[in-house]
Amino acid sequence: MLSVLIIAFLVSAPKLKIEYNGKSYKINCQIIDKFTYLSLKDLQPVFDFTVSENTKTKRFVLKFKEKDIILIPDNPWIKLGDKILNLPLSSELRGTELYVPLPMLNKILEYFLKKNIKIKGKKLIVYETGIRIKKIVIDPGHGGKDPGAIGHNGTYEKDIVLKIAKLVTKLIESELGVKCILTRDKDIFIPLNERTKLANDEEADLFLSIHCNAARSRRHHGTEMYFLSPAKTTWARAVEARENASLKYETPDWEDKVKGILWDMAQTEFLKESNTLSGKLLKSILESANTKDRGVRQANFFVLRGAYMPACLLELEFLSNLKGEKRLKTKEFQKQLAQGILKGVKEFKEWYEERMNK
Ligand SMILES: [Zn+2]
Repeated sequence: MLSVLIIAFLVSAPKLKIEYNGKSYKINCQIIDKFTYLSLKDLQPVFDFTVSENTKTKRFVLKFKEKDIILIPDNPWIKLGDKILNLPLSSELRGTELYVPLPMLNKILEYFLKKNIKIKGKKLIVYETGIRIKKIVIDPGHGGKDPGAIGHNGTYEKDIVLKIAKLVTKLIESELGVKCILTRDKDIFIPLNERTKLANDEEADLFLSIHCNAARSRRHHGTEMYFLSPAKTTWARAVEARENASLKYETPDWEDKVKGILWDMAQTEFLKESNTLSGKLLKSILESANTKDRGVRQANFFVLRGAYMPACLLELEFLSNLKGEKRLKTKEFQKQLAQGILKGVKEFKEWYEERMNK
């Protein structure tokens, strides 16, 4: 048993490659108790900090510009400037070389450079710390054989929402520098779960599903925002049923599918964010497009289920209302709606990033 342990200890892990500031380096590492420890000596030239050892106190002092950090080998405490942190793993001396575990290294890099690294295969990837909204999936509802709502004068929801989604994409990319991905950029049918899957696969930070509303009564008009949660009112359930009806183009037993699928937990983690996102979108759309405030509502939209990010379904205006249909067809109103969405996303982005990076 002992010999096995010694052999395991002597097998040093392969060097990890890191590319930083246009240069490539190889970093010695050790695997101790399944955790990766990296050589401080090897990391020093990469990030341009200095390491000196006080042989009397057995402390290591790291310096970068005006900042310094103190490490004690075999000790989970680390001093960053005036702040002392107790970390889950200690640094380890191997000979005269100090190896730091990844969580400790990330505290060091965050304090010095506002950066972190992660291990991907045999590579170390450097990334900025701090949560940012960098990518948004924009989903124009319906498409192809699924027209969505149809206005009294024959306007299709799928056509209007595609136009608005394209405008929104352009605005957000140019004004906020945030990448937008459309679930469809032409008149094609895409199953609802594939839209969410795309957002998850792309690791999008927000998901916006854009729709136009419809009701039996032609009187209804105005803007509603929805986030995912069991429908609270009869009205919300009616809108939910209509939007979920897209499923009938996918599967003959769509009603069973909607009822039978268990409540997906993915969105529950983002309820507060999705609620705030909906509120900010609604407020700014009302301001820029001058529509009637019909509130933020909760419903169980299939297209929002399973989205692992803050998500909102926008019902911009009623196609079943004659004035609403007329307005929705105009470029001017489409632009006003897109401007409202841009402003709502901008305000949410600021709120979210400030909150997440506290
Ligand atoms: Zn729709």
